[in-house]
Amino acid sequence: MIRFGPAGNSESFYNQGYTRTAEAPKWINQMGLNAFEYPFVRGVNMSDDTALILAEQAKLYNIEFSVHSPYYVNFASTNEELVLKSFNYIMQCLHTLKIMGGKRIVIHSGSLTKQMRIDAYNNVKKRFTELIEMVYSGGYGDMLLCPETMGRTSYIGSVDEIVEICKIDKCIVPTFDFGHINAITNGSLKTKNDFRKVIDKAFDAIGERAKNMHIHFSKIEYGLKGEIRHLTMADTIYGPEFAPLAEILHEYKMTPFIISESGGTMAEDALLLKQIYESIK
Ligand SMILES: [Zn+2]
Repeated sequence: MIRFGPAGNSESFYNQGYTRTAEAPKWINQMGLNAFEYPFVRGVNMSDDTALILAEQAKLYNIEFSVHSPYYVNFASTNEELVLKSFNYIMQCLHTLKIMGGKRIVIHSGSLTKQMRIDAYNNVKKRFTELIEMVYSGGYGDMLLCPETMGRTSYIGSVDEIVEICKIDKCIVPTFDFGHINAITNGSLKTKNDFRKVIDKAFDAIGERAKNMHIHFSKIEYGLKGEIRHLTMADTIYGPEFAPLAEILHEYKMTPFIISESGGTMAEDALLLKQIYESIK
């Protein structure tokens, strides 16, 4: 099935008086959504007890959790201590995600720092191969690692790099962040065919597994160096628009997880994406 949901809690969730994410599954369900991406972007700071409460609520309200791993992860780094920490962050995320009843973990692969791009990229591939060993030996072979396409050139995460990493093992699928892809290519995503070219790269690399990819969708302001800031779906300047992508998802019978990372209106905009998708069915 195809799932839609927010990255973290919308401003409206708090404005309506809610304070705890344990209340989010019910709230999201009432909005007509069925996914929630929990942001562990500043570290994995959830107790197992809380994760279990979230799992119960998610089950009750037909919500599936994904998690976004910490921004500090850097598999491109030459600093072995940092790389070791990066492995630990991912394993901590997997531990908590499993208790939460979810399967998908979004990963920022790493930044170039002072290296040549090819060296940084080769480091990332090597570390993902090592990570896969840990994933299987830790009993997480049923999870999906989702390395993300990034919005700035100083990060590893072009579409080509990400689909290549996904070839390493069947438990890796891409996170295509179409706002990032659009930002880094100076607004290249306009027509259905523009989106088709991107989606086809995933199918060429990993076949049918691509149907189950992870998607981040938000409009993003960009400049010469790529991403500047996340906008809402109300933006009419930067894009991208969701309708042409929705047509491809429908045509290819894809079953992705689609997460809105809009600035403040994630749940409202996830619902808008869902409505756009359903209107072309
Ligand atoms: Zn991300």
